[in-house]
Amino acid sequence: KVLLRFAPSPTGALHLGGLRTALYNHLFAKKHGGQWILRIEDTDATRTVPGAVDGIREALEWAGLNYDYGPGKGGPHSPYFQQSERLDLYHSYAQKLLDNGHAYRCFCSPDRLVETRERLARSGSYSTYDKACLHLTEEEVYRRLRAGEKSIIRMNDSRLPDRSTPPDLVFGPLKDSHASLPTDPVLLKSDLFPTYHLASVVDDHEMGITQVVRGEEWLPSLSLHLDLYACLSLRPPQFAHLPILLNPDGSKMSKRKGDVNVLEFKRRGWEPVAILNWLALAGWGIPQDDAQSSSDSGVGAKQAPDSTTLMTLEQMIKEFELSSLTHRRTVLDPVKLQYLNKHHLMNSMTMDDSLTALAEKRSQYTSTKYIKDVIIALQGRLTNLHELPVLAPYFFVDPDFTSDEARALYEPLPREQYAVSNLKERLAAETGSWGSLDLTSIIREEARKTGLPSKQYMTIMRHALSGMKTGPGIGDMLRVLGRDRAIARLANTPT
Ligand code: GLU
Repeated sequence: KVLLRFAPSPTGALHLGGLRTALYNHLFAKKHGGQWILRIEDTDATRTVPGAVDGIREALEWAGLNYDYGPGKGGPHSPYFQQSERLDLYHSYAQKLLDNGHAYRCFCSPDRLVETRERLARSGSYSTYDKACLHLTEEEVYRRLRAGEKSIIRMNDSRLPDRSTPPDLVFGPLKDSHASLPTDPVLLKSDLFPTYHLASVVDDHEMGITQVVRGEEWLPSLSLHLDLYACLSLRPPQFAHLPILLNPDGSKMSKRKGDVNVLEFKRRGWEPVAILNWLALAGWGIPQDDAQSSSDSGVGAKQAPDSTTLMTLEQMIKEFELSSLTHRRTVLDPVKLQYLNKHHLMNSMTMDDSLTALAEKRSQYTSTKYIKDVIIALQGRLTNLHELPVLAPYFFVDPDFTSDEARALYEPLPREQYAVSNLKERLAAETGSWGSLDLTSIIREEARKTGLPSKQYMTIMRHALSGMKTGPGIGDMLRVLGRDRAIARLANTPT
């Protein structure tokens, strides 16, 4: 059974890139009948932001990505929050590495480390540390520890066991990127906290993680992580790295820019499922290499959903394959989100504060069912729920015909007033249930009786019902408004 984890650091708000990682963890886990953990990684205490964990949880909950284990839920390996509560565990693994000779204690002062790094760089060396402490005798180490000297624990990278580099589930076969890593990477810091590298390897192993799905920014660390597994004689999980997301202008999406904050999308009225759909399709396609080899038949291309395919979360789970993601950097295009949101609005709905405020005097019109009827009547004119108050206020409040503005816009002639009152009489005389009336035919019949051109007739009725010149068909409008409100508006009496 598969078990995955989404492991954000509590250093700020959840951004779109993080939400994509969570989503892909969710999709992979659920597709394979497995589970996933929310694990908060707080190894860098100086960067922890108060309240960040609550924000991350709120964003995941809004998006409908429910983790199986984690903060607030517990699980067999709690606490998942925070790593700072599991320090003993990391110390025991660091001790194992000291015992088997894959790690050593280093007492070099921060000043000496900086000097050494600069000296090595000047001499054209790629090393970042001269391994001075590797050669300390056991007695020396013991003496300095007893004397209370501060130390860190480093991995000895000149004595690494043989290992393979398994292919990445997204990037495919990888080159060993060891050269880009610092010399003898630090595993345990002088404040006794593990570095992210040691902590994530230990946690992934202890928690029984089967696949690690995370951002491309961690790809350069993969060699180090695989070395750590090998030094500890542990079997590594499979890895999948997700390509970097770009803004349409080609710049990297960053946590520091507020416009990628997931909760900001919530506040601006986007449908969570549209956001997930948008992120699921980011980079979806056939891998480049396969595309080349199958370009004659085009088989792969036909199977891949295109970048505007509408999917519910269930459909995403069904369709999703990590292997069909491209490893090229992917642009997240806001225009696609508008398209997806518009269509998802028809199917799903989140009632939010702005709508409640809009219709607060008319609470009977703020049910999800009512809003859904309104959206259907608007037939795709609506892109985002927040546009509703501007686009179709008349579904929530009576139009104000008494204002100067309304009069300037439209002053009905006697013949038009007559047509309005005729329709009112006709509707009042219809005794059948409102839902079962063929409103469109009734309107057509009444229009014919007046002798007015049909377009003009519709404009008159639309104005009488809504105070506006554009909007849904009159039949749809009447149906959604309901008998009493429709008749009252045609009689121009406030309801
Ligand atoms: N804590 C890391 C981050 O903030 C996660 C890295 C990983 O998933 O291994 O992105």
